[in-house]
Amino acid sequence: MRISVIGCGYLGAVHAVSMAKLGHEVVGVDVDPVKIAALSRGEAPFFEPGLPEILSEALATGRIRFTTEIADVAGSEVHFLAVGTPQGADGAADLRYVDAAVAALLPHVGAGQLVVGKSTVPVGTAARLADDLAAAEPDATLVWNPEFLREGFAVQDTISPDRIVYGVPDGVEGERAVEVLDDVYAAALAAGTPRLVVDRATAELVKVSANAFLATKISFINAMAEIAEVTGADVTALADAIGLDARIGRRFLNAGLGFGGGCLPKDIRAFRARSIELGLPHTLDFLEDVDAVNLRRRDRLVDVATELLGGDVQGRRVAVLGLAFKPDSDDVRDSPALDIAARLRAAGAVVVAYDPEAVHTSQRVHPELTYAESAAEALGGADVVLVLTEWQEFRDLEPAAVGALVAAKAIVDGRNCLDPQAWRQAGFTYRGMGR
Ligand code: NAD
Repeated sequence: MRISVIGCGYLGAVHAVSMAKLGHEVVGVDVDPVKIAALSRGEAPFFEPGLPEILSEALATGRIRFTTEIADVAGSEVHFLAVGTPQGADGAADLRYVDAAVAALLPHVGAGQLVVGKSTVPVGTAARLADDLAAAEPDATLVWNPEFLREGFAVQDTISPDRIVYGVPDGVEGERAVEVLDDVYAAALAAGTPRLVVDRATAELVKVSANAFLATKISFINAMAEIAEVTGADVTALADAIGLDARIGRRFLNAGLGFGGGCLPKDIRAFRARSIELGLPHTLDFLEDVDAVNLRRRDRLVDVATELLGGDVQGRRVAVLGLAFKPDSDDVRDSPALDIAARLRAAGAVVVAYDPEAVHTSQRVHPELTYAESAAEALGGADVVLVLTEWQEFRDLEPAAVGALVAAKAIVDGRNCLDPQAWRQAGFTYRGMGR
């Protein structure tokens, strides 16, 4: 099929390339000429495992091209919208990129074509955009098809998702849209991926409610970490024990520094703002607590680090290991790790930070920090070591080797990803989160 993907960021670039891998003929559009030039040269504009390989493969087949010219989408049977929906000033989603992309797209949409929203939007957005589309091209259809990919697993999640949700209008128009989307996702459907056909409002809500649930699960265990910290309990053992209950489950139950990134934080804030707009001022009040528990973890880590430094960070050397909001990504949007590094530096510490992939993205936001090219460089002469993103490289650190580099053997495991015993045996003061 001929497909266009509008917006080639973390979601759109992976989606465009994956669609080409599945055999479709794809044009990827973005307003950022630097991103488009990189993609056209076969260079992934961000770090995502597997993306460079499928990008080169797709470019070699000639089935994909990238452009800044929206008019090049003409003739595509399906137009995917994958532009950003960042947090606005008041916490609500900022829809200006969605609105601009749709306004630019509409003159090029032909009869019988589908406009398929993938961006995460407040419930009701699709209905509004459907009216705009109907005014421009009455024989085209707007559907919402939320995306559940996880950064770090984005290629795999796009090609083999755990479920596919179509939010379609009623009647024959919706039935036709389902047929077209079934062709787009034929490979995943043939492999048995569950497919749910719902109305557009439900599709929009599936995405934000899934993220609200995941954020709540993380903040639940982080609230238990707060309790564990004052009672001497171990939140990791607690999570193992309650996680064995199949109704609870062990996944997403790791206490630590909490969630960050370009989705969960802004999605829960936008969801709450939307519920208030909908006349439900208290329905999602709990998400405010979820957010607060999450942000308190950062304060806690700064407090523990300060305590290990004897109460004053001024002029002390802090090795920060990890800047990305999660491992296997270079994404530092709302990253707890980068936030903590910047806070300690603002408080007067000499912060030397290292991340396997996220130094360049961090430098753009916090040029004032000192960045190392290796973990060993960051660790040299450190008065305290902070592990803030659970990259495998940091999990694999040898306590004895680290001990030989640092000035003081003190480590804070912000992700509970290290073996406390091994570090204590090597002479370190080890502090985890809620353990
Ligand atoms: P991003 O900022 O990485 O990418 C957005 C892209 O859209 C940018 O490259 C930007 O230049 C481009 N853009 C902006 N205006 C445009 C326009 N008018 N025309 C063409 N391109 C335009 O953001 P992202 O992480 O890819 O997220 C995109 C959407 O997908 C958001 O709604 C997000 O919530 C949702 N989402 C993201 C993920 C994820 O893991 N990143 C997962 C699921 C859903």
